[in-house]
Amino acid sequence: MSIVSPFLKKVVYPALSMAGVFHRTSAQGLAVLTYHGVLPEGYEPIDPAFDGNLIRADALRLQLRLLKAHYNVIAPEDVLAWRKRRGELPPRAVLLTCDDGLLNCLTDMLPVLQQEKVSCLFFVTGASTEEALTMLWYEDFFLLLLGAPAGHFEISSEGVLIQGNLGSRQQRRALWWDSVKRLSQVDSRKRKLFLHAARIQFERAERDLREVNSASCRRFGLLTRTELLQLASAGMTVGAHTLSHPMLSQLPPEEAYIEISESRVRLESVLDQPVWAFAYPFGDSQSVNPQVLAMAEKAGFQAAFLNFGGGLGTDLPPYALPRVHVTAGMSLAEFEAHVSGYYARLQRVAGRGAQSVGMTQGQASQ
Ligand SMILES: [Zn+2]
Repeated sequence: MSIVSPFLKKVVYPALSMAGVFHRTSAQGLAVLTYHGVLPEGYEPIDPAFDGNLIRADALRLQLRLLKAHYNVIAPEDVLAWRKRRGELPPRAVLLTCDDGLLNCLTDMLPVLQQEKVSCLFFVTGASTEEALTMLWYEDFFLLLLGAPAGHFEISSEGVLIQGNLGSRQQRRALWWDSVKRLSQVDSRKRKLFLHAARIQFERAERDLREVNSASCRRFGLLTRTELLQLASAGMTVGAHTLSHPMLSQLPPEEAYIEISESRVRLESVLDQPVWAFAYPFGDSQSVNPQVLAMAEKAGFQAAFLNFGGGLGTDLPPYALPRVHVTAGMSLAEFEAHVSGYYARLQRVAGRGAQSVGMTQGQASQ
């Protein structure tokens, strides 16, 4: 029986939550949470797996209130002080992080964080050091595959060949995830040219985010440099998430290192302050390897974050910090089962390592 069973979600977590068991756990240490932004009002989710990384504003508010009542929500700078041995973390510390730097981080998520008086560490890509309005290449490709006509296709560009049969949504999702790995093997220029070839093949015009309604723009658009500065001046901390969000384990090592180190250099020049934290794109066990983990340290970061495992605990390797990946499908009880470390302990008892925690293809770790 899978440990992530409906029985746990529907019966065990709510019962334990109601009884206050999660609050009373003796687990100490740090729990780091990964968000991916807030669904803008008026945006209709296209695909539950694809949009499931973003949560509703009211769900975020409830989660933050629960954390404030039973845990210590710390500022990102507390983690930096802890890393530099200038301070101790409080008991039951929780750090909020948010990946990718979608526009809704500023327009929809920040107001909730401010109302609840908490701060968050936002990991953004090189796209947010420029003024052009862009979107993530793998989201762009997902939308292209979803809207493409059924049947066989073959796209070849810049040495990348992707072919397959487009049928059910599930089939398209699987093909997309394989393509994310394949397209991560080339640099961002070749990836852009490939997407251009895909547009021609599927007879789709270039997506102009300014022309689509503002809810879609806030869902898919990435923060521009000006908007990033607004987020920083609101008191939020900014960390690096590579230049172009590739799956780092797939890139040649020298290019992976440029993606990591150059993202720090560019962000520091825009923000005019040190950037000390890094999050591995996708962040699942397939997207990193020991070589990639070593690069984050070599590039001068003080801490680097994965996107699996997590929950209160004291096993905190500084360049492989585990995080709880928060998704739209989580009830408040399930959320707390993860934050409190209960879920991770259950996995250990069941003999399943953190490597497989919560991982589903193409969903777990953007
Ligand atoms: Zn990401």
